[in-house]
Amino acid sequence: MRIVVVGAGSIGANVAYRLREHGADVVLVEAGAPAGGTSSSSFAWLSSFPQMSWSEEPGRAALRRTVHPRFHELSSELGGDWIHWVGTLTWGAPEERVALRESALTCRERGVDLDLLDAAVVGGRFPGLRVDDDDEFVFESDSGWVDAPALIDRLLARFQAQGGSLRRNSSVVELVRSGDAVRGVVTGQGETIEADVVVNATGSWGSHLAALAGVAIPLDLVPGLMIYTDPIDPAAVPGCVLDAPTWLSRPDPSGGLAIHWRGEGMSKVHGANGWSAERILADIATTLPALEQVGVARTSVGVRPIPPGGPVVGELPWTPGLYHVLSHGGIGWGPVWADLAVRELLQGEDVPELAAARPERFYLQTPAIGRFADDAEQTPLVTA
Ligand SMILES: Cc1cc2nc3c(=O)[nH]c(=O)nc-3n(C[C@H](O)[C@H](O)[C@H](O)COP(=O)(O)OP(=O)(O)OC[C@H]3O[C@@H](n4cnc5c(N)ncnc54)[C@H](O)[C@@H]3O)c2cc1C
Repeated sequence: MRIVVVGAGSIGANVAYRLREHGADVVLVEAGAPAGGTSSSSFAWLSSFPQMSWSEEPGRAALRRTVHPRFHELSSELGGDWIHWVGTLTWGAPEERVALRESALTCRERGVDLDLLDAAVVGGRFPGLRVDDDDEFVFESDSGWVDAPALIDRLLARFQAQGGSLRRNSSVVELVRSGDAVRGVVTGQGETIEADVVVNATGSWGSHLAALAGVAIPLDLVPGLMIYTDPIDPAAVPGCVLDAPTWLSRPDPSGGLAIHWRGEGMSKVHGANGWSAERILADIATTLPALEQVGVARTSVGVRPIPPGGPVVGELPWTPGLYHVLSHGGIGWGPVWADLAVRELLQGEDVPELAAARPERFYLQTPAIGRFADDAEQTPLVTA
């Protein structure tokens, strides 16, 4: 089977690699450089807490349990220094403590290994962190962060070594059609690449690629600020992921810290940020005093592709041959989506856990009408 995967971010790189490994003839087409999209401006955190306490539809909840095991397997399979199981220390604002404790207990019941720690223990175990005496903490050891560009690099090296073809600096500008079906892509350079299936792994550009086939896949685009500091003495800050009430921090391969600010001065959806990076760093330095000694090396804004109602995985029955894999949390979910693409595209399965992820959910009526299910008072024809 010949498959064109469009987009070489975390999702496209995982999907292309896994499809090739299972014998498909795969061409991966990337508009710019691999990992040049959201995947390079991501906090790239892997954690089960608090996610495993969420009430989710059963399919997604079942798949979520496979995210961490799949990363452990991928790390042995690929080797390399792209995954850092350093653990995560979480604490909340005073008004969040009860909820935090409850969600920690639920996660534990669901098998997540968590330690509940008080400030005295944290003070001794995580030097460089200034905490309040009444703060309460949760430590998840089986969590950490991914160097997403390094992972993508590794996946693509394997993909190409196994005979997969990568086209860089090649934008897909048109889809080849045969009746209703999608049967390939046309690039900006005028190259036509025919295929049995085209995978839409274009992240934040996903609605645009779908539109080339005349189908409407909605995405919420939610920008988030990343701040990278100058190199910092590793002994002066905790080496784990810190999940504080208004920010997240982790080590960065550059030797500094990578920080995602989600606190004051931002919209409720992590959008526009009213504070400068320097001011944010100064604010965080009240908790991590070592930051007083370093400056901002660079910042970047990543654009999260968030399909309303959760991930979109699958094809619309009326555009066979165009398989969408669009999701938030695409660093963590990438390997799982790749496995499912193999099962559905190469092994002919209809994976039941994906029932709620099908793009039909956006349609109220037949494709001839093709309206969005954005009005709660109208009932979608296809229900999750
Ligand atoms: C601040 C921030 C923090 C985040 N934190 C986390 C986290 O902690 N954990 C987590 O799992 N996720 C996190 N995410 C989300 C995660 O980063 C994204 O879900 C993931 O990177 C999306 O990967 P992707 O492959 O879908 O998209 P991308 O990485 O954007 O890749 C899509 C690629 O498609 C290419 N493309 C687009 N259009 C075309 C075309 N027409 N032709 C050819 N190529 C095309 C683009 O050039 C791009 O390279 C975060 C995101 C942000 C912004």
